Amino acid sequence: MSTLLPVDRACMVLALVAAAESGCRDEVPVGAVLRDVQGRVIAAAGNQPIRNHDPVGHAEIRVLQQAGHRIGNYRLTDAVMMVTLAPCQLCRQALRLARIRRVIYGSEALEQKTKRPEGGLIFKRLQPFSKNSDSVLRFFFEQKRKS
Ligand SMILES: [Zn+2]
Repeated sequence: MSTLLPVDRACMVLALVAAAESGCRDEVPVGAVLRDVQGRVIAAAGNQPIRNHDPVGHAEIRVLQQAGHRIGNYRLTDAVMMVTLAPCQLCRQALRLARIRRVIYGSEALEQKTKRPEGGLIFKRLQPFSKNSDSVLRFFFEQKRKS
């Protein structure tokens, strides 16, 4: 099983950039990055259901699709998902189908609090980035309320 690598912080920064880009496009700012066991980025994407007219255009799903095309296999065993917000139930199921076992996330939706293994998925919150992820989401929704 893949362990946390120093490059994971860089991957989370990349996920935050993807989240911010989504926010600039008026999407809910969530970003995701998939890396392999050596720490190489396989795919990165932000949330984009509105722009793509795609109800499942969540950042994690978009990353899984990109990675599957790039690798030529829907099984992404041993890859690690970095995401700025803990995945929703839809994305958790997609992660299981892709054989992802490790998910590192920043912000945590209240109803999604889980740190224990869940259906083969192991979740780890990357604490230094939880505030950044929370801030990106908070800023987005504050701006939404003002407009
Ligand atoms: Zn989702």
